[in-house]
Amino acid sequence: MPWRRATDRSMSVRVIPLVDARRPVVAPADAPAQAPTGSLLDRLGRPLTDLRISVTDRCNFRCSYCMPKEVFDKDYRYLPHADLLSFEEITRVARLFVQHGVRKIRLTGGEPLLRKNIEGLVEQLAQLRTPDGKALDLTLTTNGSLLARKSKALKAAGLQRVTVSLDGLDDAVFRAMNDVDFPVAEVLAGIEAAQAAGLGPIKVNMVVKRGTNEQEILPMARRFRGTGVVLRFIEYMDVGATNGWRMDEVLPSAEVVARIAAEFPLVPLEASAPGETAQRWAYADGAGEIGVISSVTQAFCQDCSRARLSTEGQLYLCLFASRGHDLKPLLRGDASDAQVLSAIGHIWQGRADRYSELRALREPDTGDGGPRRVEMSYIGG
Ligand code: SF4
Repeated sequence: MPWRRATDRSMSVRVIPLVDARRPVVAPADAPAQAPTGSLLDRLGRPLTDLRISVTDRCNFRCSYCMPKEVFDKDYRYLPHADLLSFEEITRVARLFVQHGVRKIRLTGGEPLLRKNIEGLVEQLAQLRTPDGKALDLTLTTNGSLLARKSKALKAAGLQRVTVSLDGLDDAVFRAMNDVDFPVAEVLAGIEAAQAAGLGPIKVNMVVKRGTNEQEILPMARRFRGTGVVLRFIEYMDVGATNGWRMDEVLPSAEVVARIAAEFPLVPLEASAPGETAQRWAYADGAGEIGVISSVTQAFCQDCSRARLSTEGQLYLCLFASRGHDLKPLLRGDASDAQVLSAIGHIWQGRADRYSELRALREPDTGDGGPRRVEMSYIGG
């Protein structure tokens, strides 16, 4: 059943049955004790500065490049609630990551705003301070469906910024891409509510899939120019093992930039921080900036400083990893903070992931082959 034409849309979806690949490596409880130095480096000399925390494996959208409906259907077995890390466990492990140098925490999912009382977690994380007493950069990535309702409470709880995924302005295209018939107007209302609540500068991420929504690139640029919203275009990626990725459906970022520059001249900007995933471009007329995230055609592994924690406590060292390191036995056992710190340090120091760089050397046509990659809906984008 490699191919099935999706109902009334012109998109074809290649479905690969999902097997449960969530068999983690148990984190070493006996890792040699090491005091956190705040400048932990992996085997490629990369620091650990960003932690992405998935707070749920559920989502109310079924974007075909992330959670195709044919796989994540009514029979899909989501994680039982008892398996999810509690807010206290998440805050404890986040506090320990901060001791190792993490300065930015991004809450993800699935759809993080589906996690009950997420504001309570935000409140706990917002209390954390770096060893030199600074607040963390606390942000969240959402599909925007619940943002209009939740923006004020998230801001009051201490959230600083949000990133909203929005793959088009044309209502029919957007409904087809989220595959649950969710109207674009509600996401746009969520972005306005987040701006009004002060959760900015807001970033809007658009995944560009050739032959599906590339015609939305210019309408999106026209819509968000001059609004203070930073629009970023993400190359369609071979994340996970279910989205049927093909290279010929990737629209390289260079083409995206060229299309926009043809209407609105652009000038390149420096990265705003080391390890930033986006290449930044400013509108020459001062109407703001855009970004492109080019994991397929311009890999950026050389300064990737991101770790990902799954909603049940597995530490992944790359978006395209096939296995995680299970921290939950340490968090739920009687391991001390020092032991958990050592385990995290040990794991990061052993890291040598650079999937996108290696993919570029292989030049695959499809996402097949190699160890089965973890699903993005499970560890967050
Ligand atoms: S492919 Fe992996 S190592 Fe490379 S930038 Fe992405 S997450 Fe980092």
